Amino acid sequence: MPHPPIQRKEYNRSSIWNVDMLLFTKSTKMGVELHGYKYVYYSRKHHGKQKGDLVMTDTIKRDVSYLSKTLFIKGLQCHKALFLHKYNPELKDEVSDAKEALFSSGRDVGVFAQQLFPGGVEIPYEGLSLSDQIKQTQTEIKKGTATIYEAAFGYKGAFCKIDILHKGKDGWEIYEVKSSTAMKDVYYDDVAFQYYVLRNTGLPISKASLVHLNNEYVKDGNVEVDRLFIIQDLTKTAKEQESVVSEELQKQREMLTGDLPDIDIGEYCNNPYDCDFAEHCWAHIPENSIFDLRGKGVNKFDLYRQGIIRMKDIPKYMLNFKQGIQVAGTLKKKDHIIKKNIRDFLESLWQPLYFLDFETFMPPIPLFNGTRPYQQIPFQYSLHYMEQEGGELNHSEFLASPNCDPRHELTEKLVNEIPGSACVLAYNMSFERRILEDLGSWFSQYGSRIENIIDNMRDLMAPFRNKDCYLWQMNGAYSIKTVLPTLVPELSYDEMEISDGGMAMNAYTMMCETEDPKELERIRKALLEYCSLDTLGMVRIVERLREIGG
Ligand code: SF4
Repeated sequence: MPHPPIQRKEYNRSSIWNVDMLLFTKSTKMGVELHGYKYVYYSRKHHGKQKGDLVMTDTIKRDVSYLSKTLFIKGLQCHKALFLHKYNPELKDEVSDAKEALFSSGRDVGVFAQQLFPGGVEIPYEGLSLSDQIKQTQTEIKKGTATIYEAAFGYKGAFCKIDILHKGKDGWEIYEVKSSTAMKDVYYDDVAFQYYVLRNTGLPISKASLVHLNNEYVKDGNVEVDRLFIIQDLTKTAKEQESVVSEELQKQREMLTGDLPDIDIGEYCNNPYDCDFAEHCWAHIPENSIFDLRGKGVNKFDLYRQGIIRMKDIPKYMLNFKQGIQVAGTLKKKDHIIKKNIRDFLESLWQPLYFLDFETFMPPIPLFNGTRPYQQIPFQYSLHYMEQEGGELNHSEFLASPNCDPRHELTEKLVNEIPGSACVLAYNMSFERRILEDLGSWFSQYGSRIENIIDNMRDLMAPFRNKDCYLWQMNGAYSIKTVLPTLVPELSYDEMEISDGGMAMNAYTMMCETEDPKELERIRKALLEYCSLDTLGMVRIVERLREIGG
């Protein structure tokens, strides 16, 4: 029988990016199949298609029926996100370093969890097509392999990989591994999708479970994999959700054969996950919008749906004290300074004055005795200090060598460097205090000296958090990354290779992975520069507060 003809349909996908898409579809008994699409990009200076503007074309084969678990979950969050992911992936936001690090730690946890059922056979991703992965899985099942990692299954275009598939005495058991330390609602959907696909392939499933890290587990000697992970049996809900999954898959497929869904931004843009298309979908939100408002109490999407988008249009009665300061500051370029409170804060400090900042990393699988999953482990600190007001500014620092337990060396150096009489300033001191408390619990020999440092700590963030010193350019924020460039523009994180704590954490992990001495030195230098700027910045902020407080 001859194949039905392939239809050509033209859509204008986005007036912002000036991208047209040609869809090549074919009608079959099952509905409309997508056979390919072709982007036609136009120069951005023209809004609309103009002859001669074609700058690039790109054709990619697509199969509308293919829906992986990730795509299904994306579609549950927002159909438009799924559509864009399938047809306009070039509109995705850039993947941040923090997100990339999260993916990477997720992979590590998945591999570690395989030890729950050791001796299994892994179905690799690389070098195998989807159908090859499915075939190889079937081969292992037929061979009698009892545990398969990354087992692959497909049913009518719905495709999933199972982190751990284990043959128990009553049938096959699904284990979906997550690197988080708690259950989340979206995990029920993950497991339900897998259960649906596997059941429909005819595999007898006796159990479907979610495996996540146990944040109460404390390492003592070798990691005990049975205690590191918590297994939650979700079989009952997975069974109950079978028809829901089936209906939703149908809806998603139908949606994918049509036009881009007309879905406006909403609460779902970052729930349960931050959507990859935020920059694209939120492009119409102007500067100084209701979404720039900090703090709680105002339902921004309620306002948005009422057509209130700009900050200037928020009814004043809805704003709390701090939000009122932010809105007045933004609209009238007005600072909010309470000199007396700034002076009171400065008078609460004393000499010698020490400025402290830690950098930490958070291994999901505890590396050192006495630590829990994701516990912050300090690997670096910077300390600026002066013995008397207007005296010489000194600097000391510590950066651990890679691949060692940095805690003892760091603690010993720190307690020896901070005199018992010193006032210790930190920016957002709850973080530094928590690290110090942990150091005290690990090394009781330094306990009283650490307690003394904690007692003598003051929080430089306080005048900014309380809005005693608020410059309108801060736009409601009070982190050091906002306050420093606003008060001391000559000190900026902009040109730095490492410019925030997340990047510092990734850099230390890279230090532990590289064997190239030059690369190691480059990362060391970047880390030292970054941490030192944090404490030097605090010194300059205090100087500016003295000027502003009068
Ligand atoms: S940004 Fe929001 S509206 Fe746009 S695709 Fe993502 S979830 Fe949907």
